[in-house]
Amino acid sequence: MTITQGFEDISNPLQQSALHKKGLCDYVINVASGCLHGCTFCYVPSTPVIRARQSHLKDKGVVDPQMDWGKYLLIRKDIPEKLESVLSRKRVWHESKAGRGVVLLCSGTDPYQNRQTADITRMVVEILLKYGKKVRILTRGLLWVNDLDILVHPNVTVGMSIPYSNDTLSRQIEPASPPPSLRMKALLEGYKAGCRLYIAAAPTPPQLTQDDFTQHLEKLLEFNPEVIFWEPINARGTNGKRMIAAGLDFMKSVINKKVWADSFIKQWHDIEMAADKVGCLEHLHIWPDQELSEFIEDKILKYWWDRPTIEQWSGYKNQTQKNSYRPNIKQYLDLDFTQNWSISTNR
Ligand code: SF4
Repeated sequence: MTITQGFEDISNPLQQSALHKKGLCDYVINVASGCLHGCTFCYVPSTPVIRARQSHLKDKGVVDPQMDWGKYLLIRKDIPEKLESVLSRKRVWHESKAGRGVVLLCSGTDPYQNRQTADITRMVVEILLKYGKKVRILTRGLLWVNDLDILVHPNVTVGMSIPYSNDTLSRQIEPASPPPSLRMKALLEGYKAGCRLYIAAAPTPPQLTQDDFTQHLEKLLEFNPEVIFWEPINARGTNGKRMIAAGLDFMKSVINKKVWADSFIKQWHDIEMAADKVGCLEHLHIWPDQELSEFIEDKILKYWWDRPTIEQWSGYKNQTQKNSYRPNIKQYLDLDFTQNWSISTNR
């Protein structure tokens, strides 16, 4: 496989983000374009981060920025210097109810995928902490355990994406990422060091059952994560094509919008039941996709889009309370969507 590697400049590394709707952050910093993990389901190529920059990427030698996802990485090595300059001048800091003013590394690449991105990430975290910012790391990589000396900090939380515990399934779906067993070893290191941790148990393939979720959540609780985010695999842009090209035939079963919504709701219910069983329902944070609005009442979707996580960030008094109201997804199980909603099957 030919890999295109290089560097690129970016004028402002600190971008305001809509990911407060997932309870993740208000700002993102991406240390590179592209991601060598190249997970088959990855949504990033269908976001403006890639879609709106195709000609720039082609100029850098990337033949097809969509279908070649995983085969290119353009490092933004001047980010630390530029970030220092931006933060030294910045007077207004946006803090939404659910985003908490947090800065996420990264939303469009993996901050710890290799030595180069890890070095930049470390420098960026040091600068953010110097300016008193809250930092959220999200990775499938393992190199963050080398940075525990700075990551064990009340203003830093480290999250690993671990949708399932099965290494064989991971080889098929996210073949270039470290297997879940190694990700869990890294989490154990972080846990022992006293690092604040969270998990993105996402995105899950449609064949996972309530028993799978129960067993997986039981394992994840060993690391005492403050929050566990969840969503299933959603077909967006070219990711369905890339998954089918990778031989993941289960994707064919959820490429139709109605079936996808049905499957989403079933898994949502299953993981809530599993979380309740193992005693972590209060820590389970759902990421409902906007396209569910054809199938589920807006008030339920908005509940999750507006909701801060249960994580304890300093400076916030109105933290999400344990045992507070949570909408029940059970009412949507077994509904005949075709009679109640107009359906577009062109996903
Ligand atoms: S690690 Fe994250 S950004 Fe990289 S390919 Fe996988 S899902 Fe996409």
